[in-house]
Amino acid sequence: MIITRRNALKLGITAFLTSLASNATARKLTGTKVVVIGAGLAGLAAAKQLQERGAEVIVLEAGDYVGGRIRTDMSLGAPFEFGAGWIHGPSQHNPVKQLADALDVGTFVTDDDNLEVFDLSGRPLTDAEYVRLDDMYDHLETVLYSPARSETRSVHDLLREIEPDILTDPLGIWALSTFFEFDIGAGIEDISARNGFASDTFDGADVILTEGYDQVFAPLAADLDIRLNTPVSRVYHDRNGVEIDGLQADYVVCAVPLGILKTGDIVFEPSLPEDVQKSIDRIGFGSVTKIALKFETPFWDTETQYFGVMTEPRGRWNYWLNYRTFSDENILLGLSFGRYAPIADNMSKEVMTRDALAVLRSVWGDEVTSPQSVLTTHWSKEPHFLGAYSFPRTGGSVADFTRLEAPISGRLFMAGEHTNFDYHGTTHGALMSGRRAASDILKA
Ligand SMILES: Cc1cc2nc3c(=O)[nH]c(=O)nc-3n(C[C@H](O)[C@H](O)[C@H](O)COP(=O)(O)OP(=O)(O)OC[C@H]3O[C@@H](n4cnc5c(N)ncnc54)[C@H](O)[C@@H]3O)c2cc1C
Repeated sequence: MIITRRNALKLGITAFLTSLASNATARKLTGTKVVVIGAGLAGLAAAKQLQERGAEVIVLEAGDYVGGRIRTDMSLGAPFEFGAGWIHGPSQHNPVKQLADALDVGTFVTDDDNLEVFDLSGRPLTDAEYVRLDDMYDHLETVLYSPARSETRSVHDLLREIEPDILTDPLGIWALSTFFEFDIGAGIEDISARNGFASDTFDGADVILTEGYDQVFAPLAADLDIRLNTPVSRVYHDRNGVEIDGLQADYVVCAVPLGILKTGDIVFEPSLPEDVQKSIDRIGFGSVTKIALKFETPFWDTETQYFGVMTEPRGRWNYWLNYRTFSDENILLGLSFGRYAPIADNMSKEVMTRDALAVLRSVWGDEVTSPQSVLTTHWSKEPHFLGAYSFPRTGGSVADFTRLEAPISGRLFMAGEHTNFDYHGTTHGALMSGRRAASDILKA
């Protein structure tokens, strides 16, 4: 985010009001019971803030670990992030960066420009093609970041009318998938051209956490009463209080993923208001799929940060992060985007490995050996998530996100990345939503 006057005011005023609010409401909630559903970053942030204000807080988590879509596996010798991998826009205003700084955890700035791209035949791009790629990216940014107010089509349908050549140009297809579908976590056929790229960002080049993303929520989870393996199925709420699967409290914060809200597996009594339900249905929830392949020796240039591979169909293992740029491990992390991500999610580990290796072999041929170890993700198949992150879908609007941000009743509050339009699909969006839900309860 460029710190415009509007943003500076927004950030400054928010900080000022938050400090006033916290002074005025210190320990205001003593004797108040709150149940938080979901131990992702949003739920943890809400729970921590409420407990600090004196509330008695219980966090109910369906899974057997804390962190939700932040989940690190160190078994390959370097962090494999099942979910969030980067702190996007790690400026001093980014609250997740603030957590990382407070813990003094290691970060590494990934360099998006340190990129080598290969065409469909495995040939590296020429200098002229890189210039064309840059121009195309700038042009797409201009088109997609400032659409007409009356626009109602998907990104795909908009481009089909105004830039049809991009949709048939392998370079354009690769750029659309790698830069735009990855960002939004959905296919261009589904992303709203009006709102798809209207969210906000913080400043700064993205960083990864060299000791694992899961470091950041440790202080939030400390001292909380978190009950794992406890999926919530029924939330009763009225003007006097709430009851969650038999547990009584004054307030409830529901911080489960949008994918779970869409299924209706959590029964709300009374039902969620019709406009809330419609907003849940209209917001999209896509997927992004990752595979980490660890090899005995590198067959790639160990100094290059990212490899791009033009593939068919669009979104199939077209972007690779080289772990040798920030660790000693010979790992390539492949990513699938857009409509290919749910296809990849449905593959077994063996099939996914073959699929990803075929893409690597289209570039490095027989130099690609069998991997020593493999880790894969399948977010749209994970029963407690059913997708990766929310996105503005065709037919929906910004108001759908803001409806979920507003209190559902005086007792029931939603949190989660899908309740923060400005920063949806990010860890900082989730964190901010949890803090917002906590301050809504303080106001209530
Ligand atoms: C593949 C992938 C890559 C990503 N990359 C990035 C990135 O690089 N940078 C970034 O900023 N963000 C990224 N994100 C997004 C980021 O991870 C999420 O926005 C954020 O972690 C969501 O936090 P949350 O608290 O809203 O939800 P979650 O972390 O999903 O927490 C919700 C919790 O609710 C639990 N739950 C579900 N159902 C129930 C139930 N019935 N009862 C009780 N508990 C329940 C779940 O088990 C989960 O623990 C990525 C996400 C994915 C999946």
